[in-house]
Amino acid sequence: IRWTEQWLPLKTTLLIVDARVEFNAYYKTICLAVDRKTIITQDPIVPQLTKLLNHAKTIPTQDIDVVCSLSSGSVDPSTINTVMTVQQILDRTEGDLVQEEDQFTACCYAVLTRFDLDGSSRIVSERCVHCRMLVREPNARCPKYECPGHTAANAREGFFDITVDISDHTGTLTGCRMVGQVAETVLNCDVTTFVRLTDAQRTQLKWKYLLDRCAVRLIVKRRSAVRFQNLYSIVDCAIADPAEVEAKLKVY
Ligand SMILES: [Zn+2]
Repeated sequence: IRWTEQWLPLKTTLLIVDARVEFNAYYKTICLAVDRKTIITQDPIVPQLTKLLNHAKTIPTQDIDVVCSLSSGSVDPSTINTVMTVQQILDRTEGDLVQEEDQFTACCYAVLTRFDLDGSSRIVSERCVHCRMLVREPNARCPKYECPGHTAANAREGFFDITVDISDHTGTLTGCRMVGQVAETVLNCDVTTFVRLTDAQRTQLKWKYLLDRCAVRLIVKRRSAVRFQNLYSIVDCAIADPAEVEAKLKVY
């Protein structure tokens, strides 16, 4: 246990030999477990090490980075045509229909039941313009010491970071994320314009969507050993044509 205190994320490498591979009921996926035969070597000297570390550094670790990378073009929204109800999405993330892949896409005909554009919820987040790192505190600088944004003032930019709940006749999917360019497209409004809007204008914008049935296209990334919650990233959202809803809506 004392050794683990020295381990640094993205610095320390562990070579794990003879680990047990088992199904973890909590994460609902295959996980590695340690048993008596397992040997763990810290920072082994093997040729693949540098390549592996460099690759690991390119993988987004913060949830918001994952959401942003999902919503910015990894999947073309027009290819998402598998219609699912909220219950079906929940079953495939948490319930009986969980599959091997950690990610799937769905088109859900649902009503936005939380779209708090004019309330106290966070709508706009800020990140460093140099390294894209999230900056949470107001008027703060980039938290990374080696980044140019750490010393420069005004090295932050806003981006939409909206939490949305969607509901249909089978249930509610809470905490879906609508970020960046997707939100700008849906709202037909960029961040700079949005922050200048009055509360009344924001309310008006909200009611364009609230309580109307929308075709919500999303990418679901399931909870895993490295990600503690499921991520529902909205990649497209448009008011749906009632005829289309009637034709495609599923009872279950
Ligand atoms: Zn930075």
